[in-house]
Amino acid sequence: MQDDSIKDKALANRVSRLIVDAFNNLSVKSGKPGVRSNGVKEWTVLAGIAMIEIDETANYKVSPICFATGVKALPDKVRQYSQGSMVHDMHAEILTLRLFNWYLLKEMSLLIENDQYSSQIIEKCEDEAKFSLRENIELALYISEPPCGDASMTYIADEREPWQETKPEKRRKVDNEGTVLRGRANFDQLGKVRTKPGRADSLISLSKSCSDKLCMKQLIGINNCFTSYFMKDPIFIDYLVLPQSKACERDLTRCFYDRFQSKDHSVKYMKHIRCDDDGFEFQKPETCLSKVVPSQLSLLRVIPNGNTQVLNNGVKNGSFIKGKPPKPTGQSFICNEQFYLIAKTIANLGSFHYSSWKLQNHQRESLKEHGRSVLKYWPRTSIDDFQV
Ligand SMILES: [Zn+2]
Repeated sequence: MQDDSIKDKALANRVSRLIVDAFNNLSVKSGKPGVRSNGVKEWTVLAGIAMIEIDETANYKVSPICFATGVKALPDKVRQYSQGSMVHDMHAEILTLRLFNWYLLKEMSLLIENDQYSSQIIEKCEDEAKFSLRENIELALYISEPPCGDASMTYIADEREPWQETKPEKRRKVDNEGTVLRGRANFDQLGKVRTKPGRADSLISLSKSCSDKLCMKQLIGINNCFTSYFMKDPIFIDYLVLPQSKACERDLTRCFYDRFQSKDHSVKYMKHIRCDDDGFEFQKPETCLSKVVPSQLSLLRVIPNGNTQVLNNGVKNGSFIKGKPPKPTGQSFICNEQFYLIAKTIANLGSFHYSSWKLQNHQRESLKEHGRSVLKYWPRTSIDDFQV
């Protein structure tokens, strides 16, 4: 019997290798970081989800499901007009969770369309019109960097951070819910909810940091409102895979365990496992001095379906219209409106109003409310609503 830590390392290396290889082997005209016309190189973050199937003898098979790159988020004011047609949070790990949800929804739709279809990941429940994850399946989320926000505070303090703000910002008031820490401001404050990092002079995004979003998903699961409507039980991430050289155990423990410990009954904690050098070519630079800039683009890929897309400003690359939603052909396949279009092939959703439909899932909403009260100062983004 192998030592647990050896098994964990082997699994972490297997997962990271499969995701990085899937990225490297994808041949695309655009979407990967490049060199700008002024000679400046681009970097990005890569994240992906792999499925682990465990057999009776405890052997396992790992299959990559999806990956995404990206480090951008849209300003909150875009929500006033986006109407479910734009993707606001383009950080790699959040995009890959969206891709995973898209994959699940597609599998559900195929199972409904065709009685003979067999999905590698989900199956229809016998007693109700719901789906469940197949038995003996676990999920791993690989990220090439520690997630932004609380889980990467030491990493930032080590001055490995290329987006250093010029002066620390004041805490910003958010409605009546208290204050929120914007991005990397006040990085001496630990264990706190933060918004996505951005330049100090950028328009505010109230999108929460990836650390906070992933932390919350340990409570509510990774299903979005569409897939959770059809799933019997929530799906959780079992393993968070990070490069050994970048992950700080103290930060990870504080961010993902301590903030819930003793306050919670139903949290499904991710196990943190470390991979050796992952060989990802477009890594974030190690010092602020390097002449490299973050890529504007996100590359999306769902591996079993072969779906590939490049996002820019929340829409298909080349389809961005300033101050307006994109034309329908410019929408990303993982925007909320596209999720709705697949969902209605699975069940009749009636006359649909996104914001109120979402609230009807009382169990999910009450878990989210509970999570917000534990993590505190959870700023609300403006509503991005649509009706059909
Ligand atoms: Zn992030």
